[in-house]
Amino acid sequence: MTRVFNFSAGPAALPEPVLECARDEMLDWQGSGLSVMEMSHRGKAFVSIAEKAEQDLRDLLAVPNNYKILFLQGGASGQFAAVPMNLMRGKTSADYINTGAWSKKAIAEAKKYAEVNVAASSADDQFMSIPDPASWQCDPNAAYLHYTPNETIGGVEFHFVPETGDVPLVADMSSTLLSRPIDVSRFGVIYAGAQKNIGPAGLTIVIVREDLMGQPMDCLPSILDYQVQADADSMSNTPPTYAWYLAGLVFAWLKDLGGLAAMAEINQRKADKLYRVIDNSAFYNNPVAKDARSWMNVPFTLADAELDALFLKEATQAGLMTLKGHRSVGGMRASIYNAMPEAGVDALIDFMVDFEQRKA
Ligand code: PMP
Repeated sequence: MTRVFNFSAGPAALPEPVLECARDEMLDWQGSGLSVMEMSHRGKAFVSIAEKAEQDLRDLLAVPNNYKILFLQGGASGQFAAVPMNLMRGKTSADYINTGAWSKKAIAEAKKYAEVNVAASSADDQFMSIPDPASWQCDPNAAYLHYTPNETIGGVEFHFVPETGDVPLVADMSSTLLSRPIDVSRFGVIYAGAQKNIGPAGLTIVIVREDLMGQPMDCLPSILDYQVQADADSMSNTPPTYAWYLAGLVFAWLKDLGGLAAMAEINQRKADKLYRVIDNSAFYNNPVAKDARSWMNVPFTLADAELDALFLKEATQAGLMTLKGHRSVGGMRASIYNAMPEAGVDALIDFMVDFEQRKA
């Protein structure tokens, strides 16, 4: 068996020890005689898996007691709609910060349910930076302020948490959650599709402050209703049991590694060394403002786009997979989430340096 280094933006690489554990437990989970996939979600065995996963996530992020953690379906895209339907609470408008492709999708969906005030946008800068918070036109009566801490396609990341006073802060953390410690108490709602840093696709994590629940719009489907799902321990319908189990294995893996502070150190080191190679080269380029560069998704272009296909072909031959940039921007993108070992980033760097020497 040969495993490659997978730089996919999502579904993304999973930690090898997690996959090995899942393999070992595939046919018979801890003497139960069943695969986790075959268990009733209401049975004792699965409930113990679910509760441990939630507790481990609570520990990792130090989630305060007045927050619920929900294990849902529908992806982050489902939350683009669920957020306004849960959080408008009779108010008329919500603030959004537009920093790129995923912000735009969240805004478009929210417009179906609420008036959207785009309080700041980096469109004029081709979404290559974070708008200066001093320039944001925030509405003190907004139901909430929504932003995208890490734009997966643009590779643009907030390295600070916006200050919103009494207005609840809502964050689409799909491609950054668990990459570093965060102060959950600063947020009203945090949500993330799992398929990057958490586990396989099919699971959506929502962390919600309790006082924001229970005032849904009439149109809100029950399965997206935070209060309904919190009251049912995320089992108002059948949850994505196997994805929940695998996420639990990822949380345990992270705890074993020393938690999110340890992970952050590794992630920053991985990102810094990759950006250093790009910046020290006239052949590779990353256009993002230095203070807004993502630790998780590193887009870069080659000086000659005619070489893109050859770069990707040779990278694949070298076991470096899925480096093609998003179809909307072209070029390359290396997604280096938690599960990408530092050795994978080192191998990519060696390949890039060698390719440049041969082709520049
Ligand atoms: N937000 C961000 C920041 C993302 O990266 C993605 C997926 N790439 C989404 C939302 C959409 O997630 P999903 O496919 O889970 O709906």
